[in-house]
Amino acid sequence: MTTRDLDMPVTPANALTLGDAVLRHLVYSVGKDQSHAVERDWCVALSLAIRDLMVDGWMDTTRRIYKTKQKRVYYLSMEFMIGRLLEDAIANMGLIKEAKEFFGELGLNLSDILNSEPDPALGNGGLGRLAACFMDSMATVGVAGIGYGIRYEHGIFRQSFQDGWQLEEPEDWLVFGNAWEFQRPEVEYSVEFGGSVQRDNTGKMIWTPSERILAGAFDTPIAGWGGKHVNTLRLWSARSAEVLNLHQFNQGEFMAAAQQQVLAESITKVLYPGDHTAEGRELRLKQEVFFTSASLQDILRRFRLDNTNWNELPQYAAVQLNDTHPAIAVPELVRLLVDKHGLEFVESFEIARATLHYTNHTLLPEALEKWPLELFERCLPRHLQIIREIDNLFAAEVAAKYEGKNVDPMKAIDPHHGGWVRMGNLAFIGSSHVNGVSALHTELMKQTVFKDLHEIYPDRILNQTNGITPRRWLYECNPLLADLITETIGDAWVKDLEHIAALAPHADDKTFRKKFAAVKAENKVHLAAFIKQQTGIVVNPTSLFDVQIKRIHEYKRQLLNALETMALYNAIKEDPSAGWTPRVKIFAGKAAPSYTLAKLIIKLINDVAAKVNADEDVGDLLNVVFLPNYNVSAAEELIPGADLSEQISTAGFEASGTGNMKFALNGALTIGTLDGANVEIKDHVGDDNIFIFGMEADEVARRQQEGCQPWMTVSETPRLQEVVKQISSGFYSHGDTERFAGVVDNVLAHDYFQVTPDFDAYWETQRKVDAEFKDVDNWHRKAILNTANMGWFSADRTIRGYAKDIWKALPDEG
Ligand SMILES: *Cc1c(COP(=O)(O)O)cnc(C)c1O
Repeated sequence: MTTRDLDMPVTPANALTLGDAVLRHLVYSVGKDQSHAVERDWCVALSLAIRDLMVDGWMDTTRRIYKTKQKRVYYLSMEFMIGRLLEDAIANMGLIKEAKEFFGELGLNLSDILNSEPDPALGNGGLGRLAACFMDSMATVGVAGIGYGIRYEHGIFRQSFQDGWQLEEPEDWLVFGNAWEFQRPEVEYSVEFGGSVQRDNTGKMIWTPSERILAGAFDTPIAGWGGKHVNTLRLWSARSAEVLNLHQFNQGEFMAAAQQQVLAESITKVLYPGDHTAEGRELRLKQEVFFTSASLQDILRRFRLDNTNWNELPQYAAVQLNDTHPAIAVPELVRLLVDKHGLEFVESFEIARATLHYTNHTLLPEALEKWPLELFERCLPRHLQIIREIDNLFAAEVAAKYEGKNVDPMKAIDPHHGGWVRMGNLAFIGSSHVNGVSALHTELMKQTVFKDLHEIYPDRILNQTNGITPRRWLYECNPLLADLITETIGDAWVKDLEHIAALAPHADDKTFRKKFAAVKAENKVHLAAFIKQQTGIVVNPTSLFDVQIKRIHEYKRQLLNALETMALYNAIKEDPSAGWTPRVKIFAGKAAPSYTLAKLIIKLINDVAAKVNADEDVGDLLNVVFLPNYNVSAAEELIPGADLSEQISTAGFEASGTGNMKFALNGALTIGTLDGANVEIKDHVGDDNIFIFGMEADEVARRQQEGCQPWMTVSETPRLQEVVKQISSGFYSHGDTERFAGVVDNVLAHDYFQVTPDFDAYWETQRKVDAEFKDVDNWHRKAILNTANMGWFSADRTIRGYAKDIWKALPDEG
C-alpha cells in the first residue's frame, strides 16, 4: 500500500462506479466474495456504498452551515419511525436505475436485497412517522435540521397472532448491526437523577444527584432529494457511568456486579415500556429526561463553539418538541443555563421560551401526559423547584395583564388530586409557539384543552397541517404509478409535489384512465400475493380492496368497521345473488400491550375473518384479512394496492392523520368522517371524490356531554342489533358467550366514541361505495383526481410553514 500525501483531498466516493463501490465493500467491509454472499451481505455492501456517497454531501452541508451560521432546527421526538433506509437513500441520491442494472447483471433482484434490510422499529404511530417525514423534508427543503431521539435496542414490539390473540415479542432490529449509523464515542453526556438539593452559602442551589447515566451518540445521515443537503438524525444510547463492579464480580456475585449496567441500559431498551406498574412509569419518565437532557447539552455545546452571548441562542437555534414527551426541556434548559452556566433565572426562562416550540398531537384527556409530584420529587428534585419558579413567574405575568384571573388551573403543577405535573401546560407556558396539526384540531385546541391559556396568549397557538414525503409515499412505494405520472407530466413532482396538479386534466382522458387502472390492477395482484405470503389467505385481486391500517384504538373505530363487516356478511348470506360488490376488508395495526379492549377487538376481527373466509356461500363476495406486525414496510406494500381508505375516527379525536394522505396520494378513495386532515383533504380533492359520513365534532361533543344511551340507538338500528346479538350469543366464538362480553358491553353501555349513532350512516355510505365501484372507469377518474389534488399535503409544504412561521429559519431557495 502506498502512503498518501496528507494534504491531498480525500478521493470522493463518487470516483467509483456504484457497482465497483458495492463490490469493494462486499470484500473489504463485509468480508465475503461474490460466490458466497447472501442477500443480507449485498444489502450491507450496497448500504455502505450509498452511505459513502452521502458522507461527501454530509460534510459539505455541515461545513456550509457552520460557515454561513445558518439557524439550526432541532426536532426532539420520542419516536422516529424511519422505516428501511436503503431504498430511500438510493432514491434520494438518484441511483435507483443504476442499482437495478448492476444487480440485474449479477442475476440478483434489487427489491429482494432491499427487503432484507430490517425495519428500524423506532416508532409506534403517526407521531413517529411524522418525525421521519419531517427529516426527509427538512433535508429536501434545505433546513439545517437535526433530529434527536432514542436508539431503542428493541423499539416497539413485534406483533404476531396466536389463535387470533395479539402476541408481543421483542423486536431485534439491531442484532446484525446497523450499516447506517456512525457511533460517536466522544459525544457523551451525563444525565442525572435523584438525590437532593441544598442552598450553598452564596444562595445558589446545588443539586447532588444519586444516579448518573451516560448518553452516547449514534448518527445517521439523512439526505434530501438530490443528495445535496444531508442532515443528521442523532440517537442516544444509555450506558452506566459505573463499569462492572469488579469487587463483587471477584466475590462470585456476577449478577450483582452487573446490576448497575443492566439498570442503566434498560432506559434505551424498548419504546413505551408498560406503564401499569410504578417501575414502568418511572422508566418512561427517565427515558424522556434522558434524551431531552442529552440533546439540550449537545445543542448548547454546539452553540458555544462560536458564540458567547447566551441571549443569541434563539437566533441560532429553534427546538421543536414533538408532543409533550420532551416537555421536560423547559425546566432542563433553564437548569442548564442557571446551574451550569451561571445565568439569572428570569433571563434563562426568557431564553428558553424564545427557543422552544411545542406541537400538540392529541386532545384526549387521558393522553395528555401528567406525572405524580411524588415521582418528580424523588427523581428530579431540582427540576421540580424550577417548575415551581416558572409557575410563579407565569402567575405574575398573568396578574400584570389580567386582574383577578385564577391561574391555578393553567399552572404546570396541580397540587390537588394527589399532586401532578401537567406536561401540556408546562410545554405551553415554556414555548413561544404551540401548534396543532390540522385546521380542525388547532381550532379545537383553542376551544378545549388550552382555552384559558389561549385567552392569555392569543398569538401563541397556530396551525401547521401535517404532510407526508412524496419520495417514500409515492416515488418509492409505488414505482408503477410514479413512472406513469412522470411519463405523463414529467418528474418535477418528486421534488415539488404541487406539480402533480398537472395530472388533473388527464382524468378526462380515456387512454390515461386505462393506464392508471392497469397500474392499480397490477399493484393489487402484488398486494394479493403479499396477503397470501403473510396470512395464507387467498383473495381475488379484482375485488374492492378496503383498507384500515393504523394503531388499534377506540377513537379510530376499527370496531365500527368490524361491525359493518358482520352486518354485510349477514346481508350477503341472506341474499347472495343481490349483486354485491366483492370486497376484501383488510386490517392491520398494533394494540398497546395493556389496552385490553383494543386487543379484544383484534381477536374479534380475527374470529370474524376465520368464519367469513371459510364460508363457501359467500366465497369472493367478502373476505377479511388482518395482517400482522403493521410497520412502515407493511404500509409501503399495502397503500399502493388499496381502492378504499378507511378514515372513520370519531369526529374531533384524530388530530390530523397522515395515513389518510398516503392513500389519497396513491389513488385510493377515502371513506371518512369530517375529522383531522380529512376536512382539508375533502376541500382539495372535491366533495364528489370522497365519501364523507357521520356526525361532526360539535355533535359528537354534545352527545358525549349529554351521556347518550347507546342501547336505545342499537334498538333503533336493526342491522347493528342483529350483529350485537350474534356476538353475544357466541356466533363468532364457537358458542362462547363470554369471550366478547367486553366489546358488547362497550357498545351497549358506554360507546364513548359514538360507534352506534354513526353505524347507519356508515352502512349507507359503504353501499354507495359498492355502487360507485361498479362503474370502474368513473372510479378511476375519481382516483386520478385524488392523486392530482394532493400536492398541498407534501411534508415539504409543512416544513416550509414551520420554517417561516415558527422557526424563522426558511433557507434561501433558488
Ligand atoms: C402513516 C403511518 C401511521 C399513521 O397512520 P394514521 O392512519 O394517520 O394513524 C402509522 N403507522 C405507520 C407504519 C405509518 O406508516
